[in-house]
Amino acid sequence: MSLMAATPPEILAQYELVIGLEVHVQLSTRTKIFCSCPVEFGNAPNTNVCPVCLGLPGALPVLSRHAVELAIKGALALHCEVQPESIFSRKNYFYPDLPKGYQISQFDKPLALRGFVDILLDSGVKRIGITRIHMEDDAGKSQHEGFRDSEKYTYVDLNRSGTPLIEIVSEPDMRSSEEAFQYVTELKQALQFADVSTCDMEKGHLRCDANVSVRRKGAGKLGTRAEIKNLNSFRFLKQAIEYEFERQVGIVDSGGRIIQETRLYNADTGETVSMRSKEEAHDYRYFPEPDLIPLRISDQWLARVKGEMPELPQAKRTRFLSEYGLRPYDAAVLTLTRENAEYYEKAAAASKDPRAVANWVMGDLAGLLKATGKEIGESPIPPQHIGELVDLIGTGELSGKLAKEIFPKMFETGDAPKAVMEREGLQQISDSGALEKMVDEVIANNPKQVEQYKGGKTTVIGFLVGAVMKASRGQANPATVHQILAEKLK
Ligand code: ADP
Ligand code: MG
Ligand code: ZN
Repeated sequence: MSLMAATPPEILAQYELVIGLEVHVQLSTRTKIFCSCPVEFGNAPNTNVCPVCLGLPGALPVLSRHAVELAIKGALALHCEVQPESIFSRKNYFYPDLPKGYQISQFDKPLALRGFVDILLDSGVKRIGITRIHMEDDAGKSQHEGFRDSEKYTYVDLNRSGTPLIEIVSEPDMRSSEEAFQYVTELKQALQFADVSTCDMEKGHLRCDANVSVRRKGAGKLGTRAEIKNLNSFRFLKQAIEYEFERQVGIVDSGGRIIQETRLYNADTGETVSMRSKEEAHDYRYFPEPDLIPLRISDQWLARVKGEMPELPQAKRTRFLSEYGLRPYDAAVLTLTRENAEYYEKAAAASKDPRAVANWVMGDLAGLLKATGKEIGESPIPPQHIGELVDLIGTGELSGKLAKEIFPKMFETGDAPKAVMEREGLQQISDSGALEKMVDEVIANNPKQVEQYKGGKTTVIGFLVGAVMKASRGQANPATVHQILAEKLK
């Protein structure tokens, strides 16, 4: 519940929301950025540490090559220009979880510049600019809770100190919390596809600060922004932005001025509260890190990393449209994760009808996976079996109805559709001898409909086909039944 006086909608409608995001992403390396300590979540406090990440005097950082490669991949996944030379700088500030007394980051010469993320809105595709991507190390963690004497003391765990991060700074291009949500979603998907990061928000592998300002619609100049920290879920990101929009419009509309400051989102109240006045770059006394040489990325190195890049979500979606003839919605769903896309492609390769395959993967398979709490990578049905099932329907060996029946059995046993059909005695009856007998019975039992048919009302044949299907408990091949009936009623 907000204590803020509600601003009337007609006032809110006169203002425009402007958002720029700073997203911190933890790179998926096994070791830290400047030392060989492991990057692991959930270990006993202060066990993954060494003189470098403890910031002991005289300890020297050595840049991890793997961290740089992942950062380059991240930059490429977001269409940025990787710089041939970038410089690490010290960003000085005092905080108990920062033992060096400075963060090693990049300042005026970052790793990458000028990228973008395309988001899909109802109105079409919108391009959100990325200003820069730089590399940096993470701080440790202050523990304010959970200890017997937490009332009096704060503890510090330095396991996280020195974990490799990239910070992705967007242009102030977003105009609603929905756009911000779409931006982070697309960004996350691209980085996951490229194996740059797990982007697991619950583990803090993706952290987001939102810069928010408002201005009167049509105004040229941007308003003064507030930077909101502590947005560790999509829901909080949306809520905080919406709260901040109303707060700022309330102030500006009553003649007040927004203060440039850092604010903290409080998930319990849904409000943002002032944390500190916004620091300026000069407050940090940035200077080049004397213990690290400039990071040079040669054309050959860059070319090699480019060559190792997997196909990215957007390219995959476009290809799925043209190669498999899918609808845009289906292509989007099937490329949500790399595992999804890989599964689908293997299933489609085993069939003549990739659109039907898409329906089975997104429908029946997704349903069973969800019901059993399984990921697609753990599917008991190998993708080839879906392709085979679809083609058995295509050739008429299996009716759609029977296919629906055997599918859960394929899921239970991992058996191929043919094997399940044989075991269950569920073959579709295409043998015309057996079908003719059933057709004769149906004709004998439905003299009224037969008469109608002969009198010219040929549509009743549907009723008769249905009767044969019923008699065969769904196992007759409807096309063959239709043919035999038409023949006999001539
Ligand atoms: P800092 O590092 O001090 O936070 P930056 O210039 O790097 O400052 O900007 C950080 C973020 O703030 C960027 O994502 C940028 O798009 C966003 N931003 C800048 N001005 C505004 C504004 N007036 N309203 C909303 N966002 C803004
Ligand atoms: Mg900032
Ligand atoms: Zn270390």
